[in-house]
Amino acid sequence: MEKKNERSKAEKLSEKLLSDHKNGGLRLSDEKLKKADKFAVGYKQFLDLAKTEREAVIQAVKMAEDAGFVPYEKGKKYESGDKFYFVNRGKAVILTVMGKKPLDEGIRLAAAHIDSPRLDLKQNPLYEDMELALFKTHYYGGIKKYQWTTVPMSLHGVIVRADGEKITVCVGEDEDDPVFCVTDLLPHLATAQMKRTPAELVKGEELNILIGSRPFKDDKISNKVKLNIMSILNEKYGITEDDFISAELEAVPQFKARDLGFDRSMVAAYGQDDRVCAYTALEAILKCKEPEHTCMTVLTDKEETGSDGNTGLNSSYLPYFIDDLARVYGLVGHNVISASECLSADVNAAVDPTFPDVTETRNASKLNYGVVATKFTGSRGKSGTSDASAEFVGRVRRLFDENEVIWQTGELGKVDMGGGGTVAQYIADLDMDVIDVGVPVLSMHAPLEVTSKIDIYMAYKAFSVFFAD
Ligand code: MN
Ligand code: MN
Repeated sequence: MEKKNERSKAEKLSEKLLSDHKNGGLRLSDEKLKKADKFAVGYKQFLDLAKTEREAVIQAVKMAEDAGFVPYEKGKKYESGDKFYFVNRGKAVILTVMGKKPLDEGIRLAAAHIDSPRLDLKQNPLYEDMELALFKTHYYGGIKKYQWTTVPMSLHGVIVRADGEKITVCVGEDEDDPVFCVTDLLPHLATAQMKRTPAELVKGEELNILIGSRPFKDDKISNKVKLNIMSILNEKYGITEDDFISAELEAVPQFKARDLGFDRSMVAAYGQDDRVCAYTALEAILKCKEPEHTCMTVLTDKEETGSDGNTGLNSSYLPYFIDDLARVYGLVGHNVISASECLSADVNAAVDPTFPDVTETRNASKLNYGVVATKFTGSRGKSGTSDASAEFVGRVRRLFDENEVIWQTGELGKVDMGGGGTVAQYIADLDMDVIDVGVPVLSMHAPLEVTSKIDIYMAYKAFSVFFAD
């Protein structure tokens, strides 16, 4: 007679042949879950200090110097184990740890972006209307505009004055700082607004930021509220209105990163696309010790606007840097690049139970199922993707499985539902093997984005084992 608890042939076969992914919360020991939770503490601090690409570079450099990294010296012959960083125009940074093998055996590269959707001030931003002072903005990156109204905002960036001096601005982050916001109509008077199409519910030119309301005490001039604001700004930063022309000021959500959920299993914060991969790829390179291959983390700018511009990965700053490094050893840059491998470290859209229709659940990524390896992105017929080869996916898959990295596959929504891209295609253009690897996110590009602590930790592990391989 068959014993009751003996597994049937079908059960055994099913275990052997069929895919069976479990929630990371079931797969990880309590000890490892604690590690994941602890890792998120540093991550949240980073998010609070690095709300713009410039601030992310400053934080990355600080953390790198604490870890023994030094500024890159062009033409220097580095030894195995040497650690250095190169900053591109204050908005992107390349961190390198030299490996034991020669450079033409390839670099292990992780590429994440540190720019996030936000409201940029226009170059003539300040105006007064109906005795209120406001800033005109131009939104940066893909946003649902209505989400950015009535959210407390802080103002970050730099102003280059007429005298050439660069002033750093950060208002709204300290507890007693003032904040700013885009106003919205009360529902009582929104009958006409609610008839607009959702894309136009709040229009681009309606994303005006309220910054003041008290007039300068004087009877002789008009625009007294504007003058009062300008007088405050002049006192604080020594600027005049024309100085806005040579400024980069970014309005971002003011709130700090917080734990989400009674179980504190998630992180709710602004800018997690893609600082969640930036932080994990940064931590991985900082902890990378005497690797076989030379390892690099590049934290880049301008991904959200298409990677164009001299701080985006569609520019030549990365291949130029690698070429400079290669020449010192008598090597040709493109030979080093062609032998290299890259994890394009960017987030993926997690399944949202409230909006399941846009994802195909057999192939979409889920919160807590680990870091996502996405073979291809793009839209329509895979337009605008690099589509990692089966060979490279196979290699990355083995690497993760052998090193207990909990991972899943993902795609950017159902076929023909929309789509998007990452920096992977620009890396692939250089003739490098590349695959998207990153953290699943809920409410991507909203002022408040959601990630899971297990997935964050697994992203860190994924980049770490890639560097160690
Ligand atoms: Mn991204
Ligand atoms: Mn994005």
